[in-house]
Amino acid sequence: MHKIDMALVEMTMDVMKYVIDRLSNTKHKIGKPKKEAELKALVGETITEQGIGGEEAFKLWREHLTKFNVPIDHPRHLAFVPASPTRAAVMFDLVTSASSIHGAYWMEGAGGIFCENEAMRWIVSLTGLPEGAFGVFTSGGTAANLSSIVTAREYWRSLNERNTVEKGLIITSIGAHSSIKAMAKVADIDVLLVDTEDRLEKAALQKTIDDLTIQQRQRLFAIVATGGTTNAGIIDDLEGIAEVCDKEKLWFHVDAAYGGGALVADSVRHLFKGIEQADSITIDPHKWMFSPYDCGAVIYKNPDLAKKAHSQQGSYLDIFKDEGAHGFNPTDYQIQLTRRVRGLPLWFSLATHGTDKYKEAVERGIELALIAGRMIDTKTHVELVRKPSLSCVLYRRKGWHAEDYKHWTYENHKKGFALVTPTKWKTGATFETVSRFCFINPDTTESDIEAILDSMA
Ligand SMILES: *Cc1c(COP(=O)(O)O)cnc(C)c1O
Repeated sequence: MHKIDMALVEMTMDVMKYVIDRLSNTKHKIGKPKKEAELKALVGETITEQGIGGEEAFKLWREHLTKFNVPIDHPRHLAFVPASPTRAAVMFDLVTSASSIHGAYWMEGAGGIFCENEAMRWIVSLTGLPEGAFGVFTSGGTAANLSSIVTAREYWRSLNERNTVEKGLIITSIGAHSSIKAMAKVADIDVLLVDTEDRLEKAALQKTIDDLTIQQRQRLFAIVATGGTTNAGIIDDLEGIAEVCDKEKLWFHVDAAYGGGALVADSVRHLFKGIEQADSITIDPHKWMFSPYDCGAVIYKNPDLAKKAHSQQGSYLDIFKDEGAHGFNPTDYQIQLTRRVRGLPLWFSLATHGTDKYKEAVERGIELALIAGRMIDTKTHVELVRKPSLSCVLYRRKGWHAEDYKHWTYENHKKGFALVTPTKWKTGATFETVSRFCFINPDTTESDIEAILDSMA
């Protein structure tokens, strides 16, 4: 099962070329799903006692199954937060897999972890966090948020005997990503939401804290601000929130899973002022740093606190912590033990292209959002819901209801033309269904945007 099969390597390259040429090219269609039974009917039984053979399995993948995936980097995939991994990163993802590196401990993965750390040093430098701050790559923003919330909670519990028996409480806003609530559930922490989808400001946060009961205030240990909301690209008042956290002695976490890539962009960097005071930050390189899935990152001002929370103990692990094996052990700073060196593709791509190219590519996403905003202003059938922020654009098709947006989304997807999905925007007490663009891929063109808007006319 493990002999080197050059035919298989060649087949892989063949499929790679095919996939990269075909699926990321706008001339080709965005894939759409089929029901499981339909896929089964197409390819038949693939897992059998004797195996169907690599050639046959590849054929089924290439001729059928690959078509039922949406290439996340298609230039007209503007839904959710798309991705756009560089070709250098994609290629090195194959090398990463083929190298069979255990990325938990320096003793086994020093070469790979060294490269990850080089890339991490650049990411940390973008945040402006003080000397000593550092981070690790995680499976994504969700795992990064969980790792930092648990670190914050364990630190809080270490401060005071009473905290060890209290259920913790955190405050964030309704603009925060769904993973904050989901991860608080995993960690058994209560979440209080400030009711604003717009920028969470210092005053609103301070008022929320002042309104807590004494019991709630005792349980409060962290504030989660968002550095680029997923829905609208809004950056909370990080500087003001940092002041409140400092005054109230609260952990300050910034979830910049989507927006963090924009730290490299001179045109918007000032909006993140205050992030350099965070205790922890989440950034997803698989969103706006052009890495393949899956690659998130969690960064701590004081990594030792994360180590106290996450370092796993076991007699079989002692050797890893021995002086003789000493070095940076990524497992100590997040929830996962065995891990792939998922920061390696980013390292290779950064080394290949240089960080200026990243700046240009992120600026292009921001520019595309501004271009889309101007285009929407000039067309009579659509209007902006709010000004574009980072690379997100919320707009409405005049006269449309929720059903119309849904129908339009399905029609475009069915045609293989575009994937643009509806969202909701809250003003006052009402949620309005609207349309949304999120730009990541710098190869999206103005005519792509125009064509999508015109399909709403
Ligand atoms: C995408 C996102 C997450 C979740 O990240 P995953 O990588 O999908 O786990 C968390 N927070 C924000 C702000 C996001 O945009």
